[in-house]
Amino acid sequence: MALDDATIDSILRAPPADRLTTLARLLPESVDPPIPSTASGGDPRSLAAVPRGDRRTALDALAAIDPVEYARTRNHVGGAVTGLSPWIRHGVLSLAEVRDAALARVGRPDYAEKLVAELAWRDYWRQVHAALGNRIFTDVESPAAAARSAVGPAAMPADVLTASTGMPCIDAFVQRLLLTGRLHNHERMWLASWLVHVRRVPWRTGADWFLRHLIDGDPASNHLSWQWVAGTFSAKPYVFNRENLQAYTNGSHCTPCRLLGHCDVEGSYDDLHARLFAAPVVARPPLRIPPPPAWRLAPGGSTSTRPLVWLTLDSIASTSPAAAAFPDAPRLFVFDPAWFAAERPSLKRLAFIFDCLADVPDAAVAWGDPRVIVPKRARAGGCNGVAVADTPCPRVRASAAAIAADLPVVVVEPTRFCDRSRVDDLGRFSRYWNRIRSTALRPTPQADLERPAVPDGRPQPRRSG
Ligand SMILES: Cc1cc2nc3c(=O)[nH]c(=O)nc-3n(C[C@H](O)[C@H](O)[C@H](O)COP(=O)(O)OP(=O)(O)OC[C@H]3O[C@@H](n4cnc5c(N)ncnc54)[C@H](O)[C@@H]3O)c2cc1C
Repeated sequence: MALDDATIDSILRAPPADRLTTLARLLPESVDPPIPSTASGGDPRSLAAVPRGDRRTALDALAAIDPVEYARTRNHVGGAVTGLSPWIRHGVLSLAEVRDAALARVGRPDYAEKLVAELAWRDYWRQVHAALGNRIFTDVESPAAAARSAVGPAAMPADVLTASTGMPCIDAFVQRLLLTGRLHNHERMWLASWLVHVRRVPWRTGADWFLRHLIDGDPASNHLSWQWVAGTFSAKPYVFNRENLQAYTNGSHCTPCRLLGHCDVEGSYDDLHARLFAAPVVARPPLRIPPPPAWRLAPGGSTSTRPLVWLTLDSIASTSPAAAAFPDAPRLFVFDPAWFAAERPSLKRLAFIFDCLADVPDAAVAWGDPRVIVPKRARAGGCNGVAVADTPCPRVRASAAAIAADLPVVVVEPTRFCDRSRVDDLGRFSRYWNRIRSTALRPTPQADLERPAVPDGRPQPRRSG
């Protein structure tokens, strides 16, 4: 598949409410087959709405967060979760900005601690991704427990793809994922756990499937969370029983369920472990991951005074780091065919990305290899360098390194979320959180908000948005 300029233009110009249907018309090969109705209902043929990717909508959602209620109800599927992940994932909101809003909303930092700790999980997974690169796509350590039965199917089973497994809760989660591109954290954990431990689907297969459909799809949070569920990045595999699901869904799936009393996840945790795993949790040496060095491409100091701002999936907003540091510079986003082939993004995911792009004034959007297109467009626009927001993405880093052989590339860091200078190991989140907790719970200092975001270049002053 290729996106030519005319197609890109039509999608960008489509009214936001029509973007999804425009995409479905222009990219018919990306349309998934309809899924049948499940016990939980829903119109399987409808293209359910995708939230708008623009900054205004993101700020409205940010204004609605309630950190105290969040801490109380986060694990309930109807709880006061923020719903901010699609904007955070694409750099429309920064972690520091969400943390600052949360602290401002409550009287004392500890009232916002639960929410800040969850933001820290995202920060942590990104650090791990930056440290391990493409190694996050294979087992980071051996699984904590061996499966009892033989290896399961390598591909996602057809009954899962069509939301017809016969487990009404699972079918409802699949249907929600495919129709909306969104799932509550607990639903992600339950679905991933059932697939990996009950159906024996390799975690990588499930992670790739999630990444295709989630509108907040992000390899760092996604693939590493799947590893965590599988027990390849955790002290034990994550399993759940029906009682747990029933409690956090107010019984909406279990009460009417005809499998009540004999479903796949019925029983105590001891029963489940005995059914699913051949032996108790295996002792392994502690996992140690040294923190990554800062990503720099112009160690001697960049002299770029008029860079082209290269927007990547982590930074599709005029307030994202590189665009904010160089507010008057031209901006370019490139759809990389290698990314398309690897992630096969769903129409909903694409619709959200296009929505973010449509909100960046005068952003140019192209299809092709960034190593070719970015320097070409930079030169054509009279730019003497490239500015890109920091990212753990190995594909972007490799492309940026290739571009840097030819043109200075400045890496722009986001506003600091925490002080990582005391972090010496990324093997477990608890160790990370202990080292960053006190600084993550402090608001961003005014000086950081005003300071130039580029350590080795000469950015123009930041503008707040
Ligand atoms: C199997 C699995 C796959 C996942 N895939 C993704 C993914 O592709 N992209 C993604 O952004 N998150 C992913 N998560 C993490 C988490 O489920 C989502 O970030 C969260 O559900 C988003 O909803 P929210 O914005 O309402 O989160 P809230 O609970 O309101 O949290 C606020 C923010 O904190 C961050 N956050 C919260 N929980 C986590 C977490 N467990 N890990 C990392 N960050 C977190 C997110 O940025 C989130 O927007 C995954 C989790 C699991 C178990």
